[in-house]
Amino acid sequence: MKLYETSDLIAERAPASASRPGDGPHHFPSCVRVNLDALAANVRWIRARIGADVEMMAVVKANAYGHGAPAVARTALANGASMLAVANLAEAIEIRAAGISAPLLVLGAAAPDAIGRAMELNIGISIYDYAVARQILAASRHLPGRLKAHIKVDSGMGRLGVSPQEASKLCRRLRTERHIELEGIFTHFAKADEDPIYTDEQLTRFERTVAGLATAGFRFKYVHAANSAALITCQRSLFNVARPGLILYGLNPAPDLDAAFGIRPVMAWTTQVLQIKMLPPDSPVGYGDSYRTKGVEMIAVLPVGYADGLRRTPYTWREVLVRGRRAPLVGRVNMEKITINVTDIPDVAIGDSVALLGAQGDDEIGADEIAKWIGSNNYEVLTSIAPRVPRSYILE
Ligand SMILES: *Cc1c(COP(=O)(O)O)cnc(C)c1O
Repeated sequence: MKLYETSDLIAERAPASASRPGDGPHHFPSCVRVNLDALAANVRWIRARIGADVEMMAVVKANAYGHGAPAVARTALANGASMLAVANLAEAIEIRAAGISAPLLVLGAAAPDAIGRAMELNIGISIYDYAVARQILAASRHLPGRLKAHIKVDSGMGRLGVSPQEASKLCRRLRTERHIELEGIFTHFAKADEDPIYTDEQLTRFERTVAGLATAGFRFKYVHAANSAALITCQRSLFNVARPGLILYGLNPAPDLDAAFGIRPVMAWTTQVLQIKMLPPDSPVGYGDSYRTKGVEMIAVLPVGYADGLRRTPYTWREVLVRGRRAPLVGRVNMEKITINVTDIPDVAIGDSVALLGAQGDDEIGADEIAKWIGSNNYEVLTSIAPRVPRSYILE
């Protein structure tokens, strides 16, 4: 049974390109700009940092954290990454459909009855559970080709993965199957961004598991653990593959890590002023009378809303940049519109560029600042901009 048609996936998931009617940056009123030169520089910075003996598996799950997986994958591979990771099989198929043939690992879900597609497309899968492994074996045994697999060990995150104790039973079971190529083993850290002691404990558990398996005759081509935070803070976690996500995109997994000196943000989100009006004092603005002008105010209307990834309530973006200056949002965020107060910014005109995320003039609204506004983290800021907002790729 085929779960996914590649062509469907491309139509549904591909970052909007100007070749689809109505979908180009000129037809949609806001745009995510992805700076591929900044991305390339970040990848090269990571490359230098991890050293020549460590491979880089670029994590491009969730449409490359909202940046567009095919373009990010190509740029990462051209600048020092040699492998890719995604969250599920649909994302992996999208990468292959884009003509990218680099080693590719699904970190999360790969349904047993879709395993044939993984084998056909040379997509590695994670084996994280003994019962699921048996289903995968049953589903794949009579299919042509070999299935690449990485064992995922839960070393203390309490999420996906086999326990260290179960790992050897799992490996022994998999060894009897000629069509499984057990090429990797990995784990994931729960708080590499904030707790070096706990990270060390996880690391020790993982090292013991790998060493125990080696004694039993299991040697893996790839051993990996480091996410962005561990890559920066913990040399010992590198093994022979690192799995950076967030730092590829130029953001810091924790505010005080020194990565800030080497990387810069890749994504910006911009729109334009749709209309400007001068309202008398005490005028209602927006649905539900959610704002009243205090004096005479200049209000600008922008064509973005919660359908594009802003939040309605209670916490949302507080400010945007117009003419290089900060303008506060006033009134409610609507599905496709917001209103901002530009009374203090001279000469704002219809069509003026507005930065929702990114720099304008001498100021910058970064994902970290937005994360504070919405009570979340920079990861969520990047990934919550709606897929319908066109991504456009720029070089400096
Ligand atoms: C998302 C993810 C990563 C990347 O994490 P960052 O913090 O973005 O670097 C690495 N490994 C696994 C298993 C992941 O799910």
